[in-house]
Amino acid sequence: MSDVAILDSQHEGSSLAETTNGDNSIPRGEEERIITAVAEHMAAIMRELNLDLEDPNFAETPERVAKMYLEMFHGLREGVEPKITTFPNDEDYHHMVIEKEIPFYSMCAHHFVPFYGHAHIAYIPESTIVGLSKLPRILEFYAKRPQLQERLTEQVAEFLWSKLKPQGVMVVIEARHLCVEMRGVKKPGALTTTSALRGCFADRMVREEFLALLSRKAAW
Ligand SMILES: [Zn+2]
Repeated sequence: MSDVAILDSQHEGSSLAETTNGDNSIPRGEEERIITAVAEHMAAIMRELNLDLEDPNFAETPERVAKMYLEMFHGLREGVEPKITTFPNDEDYHHMVIEKEIPFYSMCAHHFVPFYGHAHIAYIPESTIVGLSKLPRILEFYAKRPQLQERLTEQVAEFLWSKLKPQGVMVVIEARHLCVEMRGVKKPGALTTTSALRGCFADRMVREEFLALLSRKAAW
């Protein structure tokens, strides 16, 4: 990694998290119609580029791309918001719960090319806890759509903050953007880091505990 850009969004109630950027915009039952329509437009783009759609390598490409968009933008589909089952915090655990290095792939809203990397999510429970497998699902829901890294970070933090009502939550995302690496300034390996926090993570001591645990490598 040659470059590190730190984008800070460490403020509460960010408007970035409030916009849905597409929740439910693909209604149930519309998938086939959308695939057909997107494939037609993709074929038109290819024809404008003077590509030979009779070429066996291109022949199925419009439909393939259309299906791929539907898969990569799964988070836009109606009714796919993750159902979060919470459990009572019977153990009275009020320390940090951290899930590190959760991989994700998303698509840059500005260029429609991938950005991808890892998310680190921490929260300190109040009266409820959440199953650990849910954290990657929340990340996935917001990643699978045209997205900004800043907004993805805020939306994951806000989702946990509103559904779990913890003492605090913090999300750090590190990602590589192909629109930065393959085009424009062409900076291969540049890493963009974003963070979002709520509640007690505004306290520097709490935040530093999380960041210190992030930098520790696992023993295996
Ligand atoms: Zn971009």
